[in-house]
Formats: sequence, C-alpha cells, structure tokens
Amino acid sequence: MDTTPTTQPTADWHDFYVEPYPGRKGNERIQETCGACGGTGIYTAPTYITDGEGRPYCFACKGSGVHSRLVSSARATARSHAKARAEHANTMQALAARRADFELAHPGLRDQLTEAHLSVRDGNPLRLRIGQLLDSLEDYTGTLDDAEVTEAHALLEQLEQEKAARRPVPTGRTIIRGEILATKTLDSQWGITVKMLVQGPGWRVWGSRPSEISTAGRGDVVEFTATVSASDDDDSFGFYSRPTKAHIIAAGLRRTA
Ligand SMILES: [Zn+2]
Repeated sequence: MDTTPTTQPTADWHDFYVEPYPGRKGNERIQETCGACGGTGIYTAPTYITDGEGRPYCFACKGSGVHSRLVSSARATARSHAKARAEHANTMQALAARRADFELAHPGLRDQLTEAHLSVRDGNPLRLRIGQLLDSLEDYTGTLDDAEVTEAHALLEQLEQEKAARRPVPTGRTIIRGEILATKTLDSQWGITVKMLVQGPGWRVWGSRPSEISTAGRGDVVEFTATVSASDDDDSFGFYSRPTKAHIIAAGLRRTA
C-alpha cells in the first residue's frame, strides 16, 4: 500500500530550541560547568596524575571545573539538540500517521494479529511470523505492504484451521507418533537438553528429545512411548516425560527448508 503519511511532518526545530544565553552577543565568552567532572575539577576514576596538592585533576577542564566558549558556539549546540528533537518528533508523528492509515485501509487486522499472537504458543512457527508482522506495525514502518497483508490473512486463516482441527491430546503412558515442528536447545546447570514440539493429529506435545533420536529435527516423523499430561489451559497441548523406544519413522522433506 501507499506509505505516504496523510499528514506531513509539522514539528520544526524552532519549536524545540531553548535559547541558552538570552540577550547575550554571539561573540561573548561564557563559562559552562565541565561535564566530565561535574564542575569539581576532580577526576573520580583511579589516576596517578594529580594537581599541586595531590588531588587527581580532571583532564577535560584541566582542573578548573569549567569550560570557556563563545555564546555562538553554545547556541549552535542548542540548535543541533533542537533539530534532533524535532526530527524524532516528526519520525514518531509519521509512524502514528502510517499506523492510522493502515487501520483505515485494513480495519481490525492489527487487533486480529495481536489476539492471534497471544493465542499461539511459543514454538508454533506461526507465532514468530505473526510477531514480525506486528513489530512492523507497532515499531518500525507502521504499515504492511500488500504482500504482507496477504500473508497476514493467510496466517490468520491457517490459525483458524489449526484451532478447528484441535483434538484432546492422549494422556497417561501412551505412544506418540507425529512430526517434529520445532526443536529448542536449552543450556542449564545440568547440561544441554534439546526440547521438541511434536504435532500429532489435532494435538501437540512438548518434551525432551530422546537420546535414541538425537539426530531428529524439524520435519521428521518420530514415534516413542511417553507419559503425557495435558496442559491446564489447552487440552490439545501436552507435556511428555520419560520417553522410551524412540525412533525416526520418516525423514522430513522440510529439513532443508
Ligand atoms: Zn572537568
């Protein structure tokens, strides 16, 4: 879509400029507190260089605690600060305008994506991509291009289908057979373990990858026996423990994808 903001940037650096020395001539000299030592003239980090009385002195102001400069130079500094603030204000304003334009062009899509992101579990590949689209809307560009909008609708549709296809996970000591959707390596004080997310017909389980199938990864279809308990808030999601008799049934076609 068109990314031109509906409102043009309006913040001007003059709006942010604070005159540091009102009424003074540009060629007058003024003294400013030294920022390096906060005006004390004393250097607070360890040093061997000291003033005549054994005190470590600030290099930046040679121990005086002040810097002498022209009023015109102080004004130039104030001007560049004002310009930076105006630029930031304009950037934020343009971002807000693009976000508002996007909401007009695609009512509710941002809310739908936010809700979808909250409803999708960590480890579900849909979650990562929805999160990226949201980042773009919230923080970076404030909008999505046509291809991303199409993708967003497809992701929401896919999520709806996944929800409709949900079945309660088999619980107790049971045989798990399914495809590995994702693996995650965890480094703890007890060593490195690899967790895996396995997709069965309408349910998913999460647990440690058995050592017998240590080469198994995303897309592989695996089978093992384990003790499964369902999640409290989602009966189609389970956590398994004590996996045995694990083997790879089919190597995944998506391994290299
Ligand atoms: Zn100083």
